[in-house]
Parts: sequence; C-alpha cells; structure tokens
Amino acid sequence: MMVELFIFDLDGTLASSKMPMSADMTSLLARLLQVRKVAVISGGKFELLKMQVMNELEKVDANLSNLHILPVSGMQYYTYDADKGTSQMHVWKALYKKSLTASQEFQAIAALLEVAADLNFLDVPSCGSRIEDRGGQITFSTLEQDAPVQDKEQWDPTGEKQRELAVRVRRHLPDLEVRPGGCTSVDITQIGMNKAYGIRQLCASTGVELDRLFYVGDKFNDEGNDYPILQLGIDYLEVSSLDDTKAFLENTLEKL
Ligand SMILES: [Mg+2]
Repeated sequence: MMVELFIFDLDGTLASSKMPMSADMTSLLARLLQVRKVAVISGGKFELLKMQVMNELEKVDANLSNLHILPVSGMQYYTYDADKGTSQMHVWKALYKKSLTASQEFQAIAALLEVAADLNFLDVPSCGSRIEDRGGQITFSTLEQDAPVQDKEQWDPTGEKQRELAVRVRRHLPDLEVRPGGCTSVDITQIGMNKAYGIRQLCASTGVELDRLFYVGDKFNDEGNDYPILQLGIDYLEVSSLDDTKAFLENTLEKL
C-alpha cells in the first residue's frame, strides 16, 4: 500500500529534546515534503515546534503546504496558510485548539506538586519553572524545561523516576490522562487526548485513510508518548536515534 502521509514524533526522532533539527535532517524532510504529506506530532507547544521544525524548513524553502503540525500531542493542529503573507502570526493557522478547564488545571498542578514533594523531586535544583501550561496540557519537569539534555539523562537514565511520578500522580487524577512525556517530564491532559486522537484528526482533515499512514517515533513502550499510536493499528517504525530516522528517510526517498 502506498504511504500518502508520513508522521514523525519530534524529540528523539527528528531532533534532540528542545533543539532545532540538524541541517541533514531538515534537508531530508524537505525532500520528503516535495512528494508526500508530512506531519509532526509532539508533546511540545507550538512555539517550540516552530523553533525546532518550521523555522528550519523555512530556511531551505521547503514545501510547507504539505506540512501538518500537531503540538501538545495533537491537542492543537496547525497548517501553513500561504495566502496570509509575511506576518508570522498569521502564517500558521490553527484548525483547532483543545483545553483543560480551570478546575482541571488546578487539580493537575496540585497533584503534581504533592507527589513530587513526596518523592523529594522538589529538592532537585531547578532554576526555571517546573510547571508549564502548554494550552490544553499541564507539563511538569523535575529539571526545568530548558535544562541540558545530558543533565536530564543523568538524573533519570532509565526513565524510572519519570514513570514513578506519572503512576503516582495518575492515582490522584482518575478523570485526567497522565503520562510520561518527552525527556524527564510528565504530561496531563483530558482523557483520550493523546497522539492517537491527533492522528484521527489528521486523517479527517487530510482525507488520508489510516492504512495510508506511516508513523516514526522513539517511545512505544507502554509508558511512552508514542504508545497510543499502536491502538490505531497503523504501520510504524521505532527508532533509537536520530541516525535511525535519517537512514529511514534516505531509504524511503530512494523508493519514492
Ligand atoms: Mg520522542
């Protein structure tokens, strides 16, 4: 079956956490955008995806009309609006944005702080904000959002601390979805608002059927943010490095 739409996770798949895509990756993705639709779905917020992905693709004049951007695990969905001229604010158009209620946000933050304090995670030095409201998603990072990736990996090399936090917070919030996010973070959203939801919206908007999708990500274990993808039954590839993704793109481009 011909793949019409390639979907990529961002952190650990297209770029290092919170870093712009490399020139190599950008050029491979730009080549794919010439011939196929491409979507990027990430737990990060719009501004972060703009910095990591769109700004890099704009530099090489990529075909952005084929690009679909789903920040906050698909709770927001943006496409490129070529008619809107040069005003940056208007070039990327939101098809939708979901949100938590004020009371859900409050409960989520309270549960995160309580459990993190219990686990002594609040004693870990952090010079930035641990809690971020991404619009529809509350994200907690024990080491602040912008901490170096090496520090995050050193603090929690196996992801065990991150999982422990998620499992315990989940017990406090039965009406919300709690899952480990990108690197050392835990994400909280409405139930059912995960990457699978985003991908269904993507299908509805593009008219591409599920069996014409291909997904590439790096965290498919049952606590990872790519795990919900598996319930869709779509074809996918699990990568363990950015080099794996580059090799996949090179092979795919050869065949197209
Ligand atoms: Mg990832």
